[in-house]
Amino acid sequence: PAARPDWGWQPGFAALGPAFFTALQPTPVPTPHWVGTSASAARLLALPPGWLHSDEALQALSGNQLLAGSQPMATVYSGHQFGVWAGQLGDGRAILLGETAQGMEIQLKGAGRTPYSRGGDGRAVLRSSIREFLCSEAMHALGIPTTRALCVTGSPLPVRRETLETAAVVTRLAPSFIRFGHFEHFAARDMQPELRALADYVIDRYYPGCRADATPYAALLQAVSERTAELLAQWQAVGFCHGVMNTDNMSILGLTIDYGPFQFLDTFDPGHICNHSDAQGRYAFNRQPQVAYWNLFCLAQALLPLIEDEEAALAALAVYKSRYALAFLTRMRAKLGLVYRQDDAQHSDSDGALVEQLLGLLAANRVDYTVFWLRLTDAVDSGDFTPVRDLFLDREGWDDWLRGYSARLVQTDGASAVAVMRTSNPRYVLRNHLGELAIRAAQDGDFSVLEQLQQVLERPYEIHPEHTQWSGFAPEWASSIAISCSS
Ligand code: AMP
Ligand code: MG
Ligand code: MG
Repeated sequence: PAARPDWGWQPGFAALGPAFFTALQPTPVPTPHWVGTSASAARLLALPPGWLHSDEALQALSGNQLLAGSQPMATVYSGHQFGVWAGQLGDGRAILLGETAQGMEIQLKGAGRTPYSRGGDGRAVLRSSIREFLCSEAMHALGIPTTRALCVTGSPLPVRRETLETAAVVTRLAPSFIRFGHFEHFAARDMQPELRALADYVIDRYYPGCRADATPYAALLQAVSERTAELLAQWQAVGFCHGVMNTDNMSILGLTIDYGPFQFLDTFDPGHICNHSDAQGRYAFNRQPQVAYWNLFCLAQALLPLIEDEEAALAALAVYKSRYALAFLTRMRAKLGLVYRQDDAQHSDSDGALVEQLLGLLAANRVDYTVFWLRLTDAVDSGDFTPVRDLFLDREGWDDWLRGYSARLVQTDGASAVAVMRTSNPRYVLRNHLGELAIRAAQDGDFSVLEQLQQVLERPYEIHPEHTQWSGFAPEWASSIAISCSS
């Protein structure tokens, strides 16, 4: 048998005390089986070779046995859902096993009911667990901060959603799963000592630089605002739509968290709504940066009893807007292969205008977002822009933009422009229909598509000759995939 991991459990979140969680055990599932594992995520835990494929791991990560020495719990949080205060929520189906020696928290998502399950069954279905698994690891490979997914296990246990499906458990990893909603919870109940303890814990563990600041809690708010701005810039640049940006789904570490109805854009539709339950389009693609700011405002309100000074809180928040604008422009410059130096006053505004004009054209012509950037990269490399031009109905509009772009591009070294573009424009993103192919095969007991897709998404900027079709346009049927909150 494989050597056993030495988890080296840390006091971690549990040290905050019983006001923050309920200790409880996962609920076992019948006859679990492996669905997928991530060797890349496994390295975060320094697991002994072979352990992740052992029967002990299968049972433990399905919630059927305890990892030696772990003290599982569900944490309590609250939050604003779709702009409305929802009161207490909490880990309704995620169970925190603890924090390892490497400073990684291990969570089992879908491991049974908790005191925070409300009406829910505490389970996750195979379909959405595969989506979370693939996307967590794909985001990481794209360089986008995210919670990680170590593995998915499945079980024949039936789970009722719109139809009858089967259960799965995702093992998630992150330095912390603390959300904005954790702060909102204690602020809403006027529990100041707990609120302060939580803020101190987050500062000491994850933002130690804020401690030296004259106003540590305002510094924390500013640091979270900055990380959130960087995250949103990455989402918008890659075309990622989260779908449920409630304050309880906002990570205090600026990680992408809670993979539900998310979607990578196929055609560039700024108003795209990926969540079937979001009739108003609150979380439409182009609203995400604004929503993040709204969510940060909720966090600021929760922290106000600690910050005390309203002006200081507003100043910390204000950093979000400038940071987001700069981070987004920086990402877009890289996608365009434009070199920019800090002192380059000539292009500080015109590059932004070039990006805006391009996004307008992509939207008006309903151009596939990922294909566009790939073809543009190839065109800058080869000098032949015809395949890009072919993506646009409005050829004049395209030609006009290209004139401006070309004039700007000649000021940068061609070879380095292409090199930057190749590492800023992924060939492969987890389009809905690709996830669906892996899900349908897995539901029939074939996990090979999932594994191949996982391997491709682990190296998204490279050419995978066996899977060139996965980097192309979405097929007709992709638009019929409907994803809602219930998963
Ligand atoms: P979400 O929309 O995924 O952010 O979930 C919002 C809240 O509902 C969180 O408190 C979740 O833990 C809880 N929740 C979602 N699905 C389930 C479920 N199947 N069983 C229990 N709680 C759930
Ligand atoms: Mg959630
Ligand atoms: Mg969720």
